[in-house]
Amino acid sequence: MERTLVLIKPDGIQRGLVGEVTKRFETKGLKLVGMKMMTLEDAVVLEHYAHLVDKPFFAGVKKFMQSTPVIAQCWEGVDAVSAVRIVVGITKAREADCGSIRGDLSMGFQCNVVHASDSTDTAKREVERFFKPEEIYEYDKTEYMHVYTDDEM
Ligand code: ADP
Repeated sequence: MERTLVLIKPDGIQRGLVGEVTKRFETKGLKLVGMKMMTLEDAVVLEHYAHLVDKPFFAGVKKFMQSTPVIAQCWEGVDAVSAVRIVVGITKAREADCGSIRGDLSMGFQCNVVHASDSTDTAKREVERFFKPEEIYEYDKTEYMHVYTDDEM
């Protein structure tokens, strides 16, 4: 099973989309193994978006990401990293597929409701960045027998 990080961004908080976003991952069949609200310190934003620091829009993204607390979630499942990225949709929300979170719920480039890890390596680093080991929970999800067959797990 893979684990991946989701952040519900300030536009999702301000627009009251926490429940809707969470529901999309739950109904997909993913398992929520960690969740907390937090304010992003400068160092965390700089590390998390290190690949964007030289971009002209980075200052705006940093200000946006620190404008309210965010919700950090860790989701688990078979191929969870790619499954979550498909549920989320592409970065430029107004061009994202209908049915995806960004496609259904947003129009912006910066304001696209959620962050999701983009690879298994990134996911491992990002889950560790946002969660202490004791903040990730292991438990049996009883509905799994109706989500996967044994050979998929
Ligand atoms: P993703 O979040 O889809 O993995 P990136 O890692 O490229 O995409 O970008 C991180 C975030 O920075 C995006 O989700 C978006 O909020 C913001 N961003 C990316 N590109 C732009 C842009 N051209 N203009 C404004 N904001 C952007």
